[in-house]
Amino acid sequence: MEAPLDIIRAVRQQMGSELVILTHHYQRPDVVSCGDFLGDSFVLAREAARSKARVIVFCGVHFMGEAARILARPDQEVYMPDPGAGCPMADMADSDDVAVALERLADLAPGRRIVPVAYINSSAATKAIVGRAGGLCCTSSNARAAVVEALRLGDLVLFLPDEFLGTNTAHLLGQPVVPVYDPHAAANSPAGACGGLRKADIDGARVIVWKGYCHVHTWFSPDMVTAVRSKHPGCRVVVHPECRPEVVALADGSGSTAWLVDEVLRAGPGSTTVIGTEINLIQRLARELPDRTILPLASSLCPNMYRTTSTRLARLLQGFPAQNRLSVDPSVAADARLALDRMLALA
Ligand code: SF4
Repeated sequence: MEAPLDIIRAVRQQMGSELVILTHHYQRPDVVSCGDFLGDSFVLAREAARSKARVIVFCGVHFMGEAARILARPDQEVYMPDPGAGCPMADMADSDDVAVALERLADLAPGRRIVPVAYINSSAATKAIVGRAGGLCCTSSNARAAVVEALRLGDLVLFLPDEFLGTNTAHLLGQPVVPVYDPHAAANSPAGACGGLRKADIDGARVIVWKGYCHVHTWFSPDMVTAVRSKHPGCRVVVHPECRPEVVALADGSGSTAWLVDEVLRAGPGSTTVIGTEINLIQRLARELPDRTILPLASSLCPNMYRTTSTRLARLLQGFPAQNRLSVDPSVAADARLALDRMLALA
């Protein structure tokens, strides 16, 4: 039986520029080795929008493939080796719940224009609600610019679904008060409140965050930062902004996946960098840069990203089965695209 990597190589050679393979930083090393572009969700969304290839294969999780489908031309086809690779954080912001939240918050904040900002880690249906409401998408690379833009357009931002990226971004913008909207509290709220919030909770706020999180990043704790500093004196600790604010506060810096990679490159030979993010990225950097020490704050793996294997990629490329092809309802895609295009325009 032919090895998966040989099959992938042969199909790539045969299809040439008709095929582009996009791989996220958190993918397995053998999958990354098969990609034309490696990047975070912002870089890959931009590549999907620019690609001239007839077939786009997205090695990542479902919301990323869906965003690529929305941004691609109608004559392009978008596939994933495992379309069942989801993201629990994206599932935490159901589109119906977001629509209800925008209505109820508008009642709670009369006279203030609420502009939603959807992290790209959200479903197409949620992005569509945000696009329709005049909001925009963001990634961890441009969350700050997106919130600044939303505050230019309105008076109050609803940031979803990641409570911690939203809170860390609001703190960077000098907003100390960041109320949390809990969609599960909505049905039980007493009169005059919604999502567990009362008018007084949001009166002085400019940013409200949705109660959602990424378990890969909330796994990191302040104790881990303290322990690693005593074990590796002089090390630099950098973390992803999906980490809890108390972890970010103890780190030497926080930024997107692309920023974390740049930090390691900037640190130079002989340096020791401890990174709080997904383990596959950290292990790959450590292998590629043996002249410096690169360590995980703790081992934290995204099981959803891990579902994509070179075997599944090879199987996809052998026949491009219909069940691996992504499609988004055209009316949803049109409104979601508004939010994605507003994000791409930020750059
Ligand atoms: S790392 Fe977290 S946010 Fe990213 S896909 Fe995995 S679960 Fe979702």
